Amino acid sequence: MPIDTHCHLGAEPFDADRAAVIARARRAGVTRMIVVADSAPASRQAGTIAEEFDLYATAGVHPHEASSWCPAVAAEITECFADPRVVAVGETGLDYHYDHSPRETQRAAFADQLALGVEHHLPVVIHSRSADRDMVAMLADTDATCILHSFSSGPDLLAAALDRDAYISFSGMVTFKSWKDLDAVRAVPDHRLLIETDSPYLAPVPHRGQRNEPAFVIRVAERVAEIRGTTPEAVATLTTHNAARCFGRPMNPDVPAP
Ligand SMILES: [Zn+2]
Repeated sequence: MPIDTHCHLGAEPFDADRAAVIARARRAGVTRMIVVADSAPASRQAGTIAEEFDLYATAGVHPHEASSWCPAVAAEITECFADPRVVAVGETGLDYHYDHSPRETQRAAFADQLALGVEHHLPVVIHSRSADRDMVAMLADTDATCILHSFSSGPDLLAAALDRDAYISFSGMVTFKSWKDLDAVRAVPDHRLLIETDSPYLAPVPHRGQRNEPAFVIRVAERVAEIRGTTPEAVATLTTHNAARCFGRPMNPDVPAP
């Protein structure tokens, strides 16, 4: 029973059929999903969706939205942590590919959210794109429990992340023909491996180009298993245990909380 540790169920593409998408995931055996936020309004919405559908949520501001970061937004995000369904800070991080917010602003918002993770004993969901050097430096500088989500960065960042015991989450990107980094998928130790969809984005093969949804995390488990030379069931069990440990919540009726 795999769990989807990263899906944007609050995103507009799910507005018309959110309940059906979640029901389809559960029928496929994906019992738990973590609804990831990318802004203050999305954080409140993620909490509402988690409540309505018995899921978990995160609260935080994406690097694309880093320009919105200010004390009032930080306070709003912090308020969300009072909800026991909110299990992580994020997603936050650095994106120097799109540069939707100035890099200095991205670093400041990210540093503040790493500090919130430490203060509130919550793991931090991290997006990193084309920012490996700064990410390595900032990871070295925090005591937060870090999750590098939809990992697709270079070997130096992977080594630095593993060195400080971060969790590494792979998405449907590992099913793409263009995915050449088999070594990264093999290098993550069993106890640090997570899987996700990042839906509605990055639909795995054979759904590429369509809207992604949490049920498709099974394709991610299958491909990760193939690359690591194990079974999809083993990957599902392992990553569900890891999610329970990482997020500190029960993730599956037959996998007890740590
Ligand atoms: Zn995301």
